[in-house]
Amino acid sequence: MDAITYERAADVADAVRAVQQPGAVFIGGGTNLLDLMKGGVERPVRLIDITHIGGLDGFTTLPDGGIRIGALVRNSDAANHALVREQYPLLSQAFLSGASAQLRNMATVGGNLLQRTRCAYFYDTAFSQCNKRVLGSGCAALEGHNRMHAILGASPQCVAVNPSDMSVALAALDAVVRVSGPAGERSIPFAEFHRLPGDRPDVDTTLRPGELITAIDLPPPLFSAHSHYLKVRDRASYAFSLVSVAAALQMDGERVQTARIALGGIAHKPWRASAAEQMLNGQPLTQTALNNAAAAALRDARPLAGNRFKVQLAQRAIVRAVNQAAGRTGGVA
Ligand SMILES: Cc1cc2nc3c(=O)[nH]c(=O)nc-3n(C[C@H](O)[C@H](O)[C@H](O)COP(=O)(O)OP(=O)(O)OC[C@H]3O[C@@H](n4cnc5c(N)ncnc54)[C@H](O)[C@@H]3O)c2cc1C
Repeated sequence: MDAITYERAADVADAVRAVQQPGAVFIGGGTNLLDLMKGGVERPVRLIDITHIGGLDGFTTLPDGGIRIGALVRNSDAANHALVREQYPLLSQAFLSGASAQLRNMATVGGNLLQRTRCAYFYDTAFSQCNKRVLGSGCAALEGHNRMHAILGASPQCVAVNPSDMSVALAALDAVVRVSGPAGERSIPFAEFHRLPGDRPDVDTTLRPGELITAIDLPPPLFSAHSHYLKVRDRASYAFSLVSVAAALQMDGERVQTARIALGGIAHKPWRASAAEQMLNGQPLTQTALNNAAAAALRDARPLAGNRFKVQLAQRAIVRAVNQAAGRTGGVA
C-alpha cells in the first residue's frame, strides 16, 4: 500500500502551485483516477483535490453567444442544464449516453476530458506488454483481444481508443479547452487537445505539466435544430461505445449547408470525419451522397483481427446519425 497525502486546493493558483510537487496529481470526481490507482496503473503520492475551487462549477454565456462550462461541472449537471439541452442537445445526449447515473453525478467535465484510453491490457498490470504503461514493452492488444480497439489513427505501439462520449460531441462542436498553468492561461482548440498514439502512446493529450483545465468554451449554437448523438454498444444500459457518431448539420431545406461529423470508439482521440463533411457540404442530402460520405470516412480504416466489423458498423452509424440529425427516421444504408 502506497502512502498518499491529500490536499484541497483553495483556488486555481493554489492548485497549479500544489501540483508541481513530486508525484502530485489533480483529482476531480475520482471515477477514473481511483480505478487506475487501485489497479496500480497510476501511483501518485499527492492528491490535489480541485473540487472545492470556487468559480469553476458554473455556466457563463459568452459575448459571441456561445457558453463556457466550468471544468468542475458534474456530467449530470451539464447534461441537464437548460442552456445545454436547448442549444447543444448533441452534447446533452452524449453526456447522458456515458457511464451510469451515479458515475455522471460524480464525474467532472475536466476529468471526463482526461479519462485514460480503455484497453484491458493497459488497465491490468498482470500483462507486462503495454507501451502506454511502460514505453517500449510492446502492445499485447495487437495480437490479443482487440474487439474494442482502434481502426483509425493507431500505431504499432498502441491501438487503444478514447472512451469519452462527451469528447465526441465537443469535437463536432469545435469546442475550446481553457487551461491555466505555470506559464499562465491558454486555450486549446479541441482538435488539438487529444493525441494520436504515434511513438508516445503514454501521452494522451497536449496538456503541459502542471496545467489545470478550467473550462470548456462552446461556440455559438449553430446546430441546435439538427443534431444527433448515436452510440452503438453491447448493452444499451451501460457500456463503452463500439462506435459512436456525433452528427451536426445546418440545413437549407433538403440541402446541407454545413456538416460536422465526429466518431468515437474507433481511435485514440475523437475522430473528425472531415472527408465525409466536405462531401456533404453544400449538397442535397440524398441517400447516395450520404452512403458515399460514410464510405469516405472509413476509407483509411485499418481494422485488427477482432474488430473488422467496426468498419461497416461505423459507416452505418454515420448514415443513421446524419439522417436522424436531418429529421429523417430512416437509417441504415
Ligand atoms: C464503470 C465505468 C463506466 C464508464 N462508462 C463511460 C462511458 O460509457 N462513456 C464515457 O464517456 N465515460 C465513461 N466512464 C468514464 C467516466 O466518464 C470518467 O471516469 C469521468 O468522466 C472522469 O471524471 P472525474 O472527474 O471522475 O475524473 P478523475 O478520475 O478525478 O480524473 C481523471 C484524470 O483527469 C485529471 N483531472 C481531473 N480534473 C482535471 C482538471 N480540471 N484539470 C486537469 N486535470 C484534471 C486527473 O488528474 C486524472 O488524471 C466510465 C467510468 C466507469 C468507472
